[in-house]
Amino acid sequence: MKVLKNRIQRELALLREIRRERSLRSSVVQGARMWLDGREVLHFASNDYLGLSFEPGVREAAQAASIRYGGGATGSRLISGNHPELVMLEAELASWHDAEASLVFSSGYAANVGVISALAQPEDVIFSDELNHASIIDGCRMTRSKVVVYRHADLEHLYRLLRKTRCQGQRFVVTDAVFSMDGDIAPIGDLLGVARSFEAITVLDDAHGVGVLGTRGAGTLEALGIPFADDIVVIGTLSKALAAQGAYVVGRRILIDYLVNRARSFIFSTGLAPSCAAAARKARKIAEHEAWRREKVLSLSAALRAGIRKLGYLVLDGSTTIVPVVVGDEHSVMEMSDFFLENGVYVPAIRPPSVPEGQCRLRLCVTAAHEMSDIERVLTMFGEWKQVAHSDYLVTSLVTG
Ligand code: PMP
Repeated sequence: MKVLKNRIQRELALLREIRRERSLRSSVVQGARMWLDGREVLHFASNDYLGLSFEPGVREAAQAASIRYGGGATGSRLISGNHPELVMLEAELASWHDAEASLVFSSGYAANVGVISALAQPEDVIFSDELNHASIIDGCRMTRSKVVVYRHADLEHLYRLLRKTRCQGQRFVVTDAVFSMDGDIAPIGDLLGVARSFEAITVLDDAHGVGVLGTRGAGTLEALGIPFADDIVVIGTLSKALAAQGAYVVGRRILIDYLVNRARSFIFSTGLAPSCAAAARKARKIAEHEAWRREKVLSLSAALRAGIRKLGYLVLDGSTTIVPVVVGDEHSVMEMSDFFLENGVYVPAIRPPSVPEGQCRLRLCVTAAHEMSDIERVLTMFGEWKQVAHSDYLVTSLVTG
């Protein structure tokens, strides 16, 4: 016990010293407003991209399902938890993605680790983008396959690694479709070309694309005009634009049948609660039919990105709802985030291990619940911070013109 206690104390003290300690705060989100430790603020912190979490229809669907089917699923899907809301949700998700079938997991984390660890065998090789989400990284770690990391979105590097890495079994290329901390979209069309020349299967994590991108909101593939195919596996979340909790994989029926038998995070975990499945069903329908939500959030994001850049900050390129402003070290990013919060605007600071060393950033997530006046307010804060900080680093390292 003494060894563990000392180790934990040392670790926490170190995290505190380098400003990487994290702590929980009470947060209640309603659209663009949040009650953070009881205080009302404007926020750019939620993944509720279409503003559906507080939508009456979504809340009513959740309430009706829990009254009809109960608060929880009561067991794993294979034992007692396969309630009708889940079965209907899976059919609707499959048809939305033009896929044969789908399978719902209890979170995006569980879906990624479950799918990757079930598919990849010891004789296989996984090629993984260096900026992939932690759940993909952990999924790869859970396999006994060789894992080869390629430079972010660098298809020449991917090609070279595919060519030089011997593989006795199946090759997989795994990537975020929209990168969670950078907000850029993977070059999926060309990536598929490279993967296909090595008969690799491409696994896409479209957590941040589903609902937001594509004419019917079916995600990044739809937005890029790429048809679903046998050599593509798509994972989407229900926890972001679809305003609920959980995640899913879509693919061929045979793939889904296999995952039901082999994905351990599916088999050994309780099915999604009826209220979550019902909320996701309702949110998915709204997402498909109310294109104005997508148009609104994407145009607000573009305005925010352009406005911050015009003020001289380093904003990463992208065309999604995620707007990252790279600041540098932990101290500066925390100072900036604290300044915004003191002025009633919550913009989370992102630090390692979520992003590489020296690339701490403010990460602004825009939603359809925001209005142009909210964008203007946060832009004013960015302007004021320049006055307050009038620090060298703004001039020397952030100004990009
Ligand atoms: N994949 C990506 C790209 C993500 O950003 C996240 C969550 N931030 C997940 C997977 C995990 O999804 P969930 O929160 O539903 O577990």
